[in-house]
Amino acid sequence: MNKKNKASAIKIPKILKESKFSPLAIEVVKKLKQSGFKGYLVGGCVRDSLVGIKAKDFDVSTNATPEEVKKIFRSSRIIGKRFRLVHVFSRNELIEVSTFRANASKKDNGSGVIKDSEGKILRDNVWGTLEEDCIRRDFSINALYFDPIENNLCDFHSGLQHIQKKILVSIGNPLIRFEEDPVRSLRAIRFSSKLDFKISNDVKEAIYQKGHLLRNISNARMFDEFCKIFLTKKAFNNFNKLNSFGVLKYLINTDNYVKNSFGLRFQHAALINTDNRLKASKSVTPGFLIAALLWPRLIDISKEKGSLNLRKFFRSMDRIIREQQVLTAVPRKFHGYIKDIWSLQLKLETRLGHQPYKILNHPRFRAAYDFLLLREEAARDSQGIGDWWTQFQKVNRTSKIELLKSLRESRSGPVEKKFGFLEELS
Ligand code: ATP
Ligand code: MG
Repeated sequence: MNKKNKASAIKIPKILKESKFSPLAIEVVKKLKQSGFKGYLVGGCVRDSLVGIKAKDFDVSTNATPEEVKKIFRSSRIIGKRFRLVHVFSRNELIEVSTFRANASKKDNGSGVIKDSEGKILRDNVWGTLEEDCIRRDFSINALYFDPIENNLCDFHSGLQHIQKKILVSIGNPLIRFEEDPVRSLRAIRFSSKLDFKISNDVKEAIYQKGHLLRNISNARMFDEFCKIFLTKKAFNNFNKLNSFGVLKYLINTDNYVKNSFGLRFQHAALINTDNRLKASKSVTPGFLIAALLWPRLIDISKEKGSLNLRKFFRSMDRIIREQQVLTAVPRKFHGYIKDIWSLQLKLETRLGHQPYKILNHPRFRAAYDFLLLREEAARDSQGIGDWWTQFQKVNRTSKIELLKSLRESRSGPVEKKFGFLEELS
């Protein structure tokens, strides 16, 4: 029996047969097949369905070229240069249809695959067979091809077995695969957290050895990966894994804080808070998390003899964002947002005169208040400022005046200039 027959003889797990795939994705496969081409659901949607996770997006793989796919679907467009594919869309859904590609190193005929001096693939548009397409995927669990019309599963790299064993295995030598595309090391960490899978030893070794190549990845792609890593309910887990593999520094411009330090406790509080918000279907933004992850560094740079140097604080804000921008593109709209959250921290503490009324109406008040609560959670002396604001928001006008009055009375002498929690500034 040849490899192809062996692959198609696989017994389809019940969980896959009963999975709810997007009707549009199934329609795309159906139409491709009716037009005489092959069509498979592939990648994350097949993997997630087998693990019992609801798939969030659906990719289709075919032997039709982008131009041929485009002809079949009226609502479609060809996108990408490095990696050309077709988006087939309906009003509220989008299916990515990619053409089978050949393994770059095997079919490098100079026409469609371009690599840089460190082995990174810059362009990857050499068409190939299903088997060849399989080989160029990153991990065996991502290389399962499912034809939902004929209930046929192609698995050339024991992906199904690895899903059952809960292990992430590279297709081919991970040292070479991570050179071709260093982002695969981040993907390995992300999938292991998402699926609760172990990472095979050779993949672990490749992350250690090739992680440094992440320096060469564009900041736009790193930002995409940043969002997938930190805004999909596994931020805390991913942060710790990235740190232990020594690759966190390519995603966030933070120092390595020691266990039990304010910096690390605050970062952890922000990551756990992000995960919990997502689990409760609350909104999250990368801006808030970036503001939090960089906060300990801002404080470190701005502190002087146990208190905050305000000039340094305001000057350093732009610098820190600029430095982060080199690692991951930070969309412009978040720059002001991050700086607002940071500078509001000062005002939330001082609460001078009638300012608290103004602060309540500030468009970033809610984010800044949440941020303050996280700082308090991480600091061992909270000073009750968060509580004060919780009260101030809730109560009526008369009680607001009372709150401000008692605040004034509680302050002996001139308003405290000192900002920050003791531990934060230690
Ligand atoms: P998720 O959508 O949960 O992030 P996914 O596996 O669907 O996971 P995508 O980035 O959507 O990830 O990619 C779809 C498929 O394309 C993957 O399952 C994998 O087979 C292949 N793929 C994506 N990125 C790479 C890569 N950098 N190297 C090799 N194959 C990749
Ligand atoms: Mg996907």
